[in-house]
Amino acid sequence: MKTVRDYPSIVIPPPGPKAQAVVRQDAQWTSTCYTKEYPLVVSRGSGVMVEDVDGNRYLDFMAGIAVSSTGYGHPKVVAAVKKAAERFLHICGSDFYYEGMAALCERLARLAPGSSKKRVFLTNSGTEATEAAIKLVRHATGRTAIIAFRGAFHGRTTGAVSLTSSKSRQHAGFGPLLPDVHHVPFAYRYRCAFCAREPACNRGCIDVIERDLFARHLDPHDVAAVFVEPIQGEGGYIIPPPGYLADLRALCDRYGILLVADEVQSGIGRTGRMFACEHEGLEPDILLTAKGLGSGMPIGAMVAKESITSWEAGSHGSTFGGNPVCCAAALATLDLVENGLMANAAQMGERLLAGACRLMTEHPLIGDVRGRGLMVGLEFVKNRDTREPAPEIVRSLIQQAFRRGLLLLGAGQSTLRLAPPLVIDEQDLDTALELIDSCLDELA
Ligand SMILES: *Cc1c(COP(=O)(O)O)cnc(C)c1O
Repeated sequence: MKTVRDYPSIVIPPPGPKAQAVVRQDAQWTSTCYTKEYPLVVSRGSGVMVEDVDGNRYLDFMAGIAVSSTGYGHPKVVAAVKKAAERFLHICGSDFYYEGMAALCERLARLAPGSSKKRVFLTNSGTEATEAAIKLVRHATGRTAIIAFRGAFHGRTTGAVSLTSSKSRQHAGFGPLLPDVHHVPFAYRYRCAFCAREPACNRGCIDVIERDLFARHLDPHDVAAVFVEPIQGEGGYIIPPPGYLADLRALCDRYGILLVADEVQSGIGRTGRMFACEHEGLEPDILLTAKGLGSGMPIGAMVAKESITSWEAGSHGSTFGGNPVCCAAALATLDLVENGLMANAAQMGERLLAGACRLMTEHPLIGDVRGRGLMVGLEFVKNRDTREPAPEIVRSLIQQAFRRGLLLLGAGQSTLRLAPPLVIDEQDLDTALELIDSCLDELA
């Protein structure tokens, strides 16, 4: 049964006058590196609804880049944050103890895929989780080289951005970056150099690591780790074929290379399981999480097997990492994700994927649809035979949807990513699909 909802509702074409004032001020004083997708000036949010300063209400299908996992202002998360804030805002978990930090580390260690005992390092962000992992894998193996994938996104601090390979602008002018980082092709079936036109994946992209990289350039025994996103996020919501991650694990094991799964975007219930690795039965040596973990409060984590957690007291740390208020938000988020939201993500994800596939039958501009849970990508092309990317279509679609009250975001070269908060229901999901459908009709 449909209920009457007060969103999406555009009362004044955005940006309205109040939004324009903020955009003007921001344009003058914020650093020039920010991209700003469209002039959305947020004043509040509730569930999957975001309201701007002029009273426009939007349906959110990007969750502040897959962060607002429990929606905006979930009462249980807000209550946990308030309670923790009233007790103490900070004490520095690197030097002292508190209940929230111990509890969250135990919780994440137990939740991480696989049966090995884990230990947890808490951070403020995804990129800091990547930095921690870069340091730990080198420390644990005594090796320096790192393998990462084309299209990968692991963060923007200098170490992490060296592993990132999604847009050259993220590297331009910042070099020299971390040495001894080697990028190899990802299992991007739709555009794979080895098997894009084949009926099945032939693992050409894994073979090439041994046949080419290890044979000619890099001794595998110098490699500390392979960093992989089990589902590539910024790179375009790319899901590797079944068995690929297991084959990658086997490759690592042949040479004593550690496997780091960056689940900063794919983790915390978004794919219908707590971590995307679980769909493939993969136990990484290190798992990275952040984005959805704190429902918006800044917190991330590196969860490592105890057997490789070799670094001594004082070798790494953080003043703010694992802030008590953020720990409380994360614990409340995990409660919600485990008790309903993960199941909802799986169920709504099926409906969303089916809806996206329907859109593909109607709109020839959509060349590929892929998804797991509430992580769904629609790749746009100029022509389905040539598969030529159509980035300008994605850009126009996103702008148009914004003006009609739907918040979207692109990913990769020409993919639309659908990543609503995990609290999304059927009605809002169908509304979003209808809006995308009608925007595409207008664009065609
Ligand atoms: C967003 C993201 C990061 C970086 O997280 P920040 O909190 O922006 O530093 C790292 N890895 C993946 C897979 C991400 O999606």
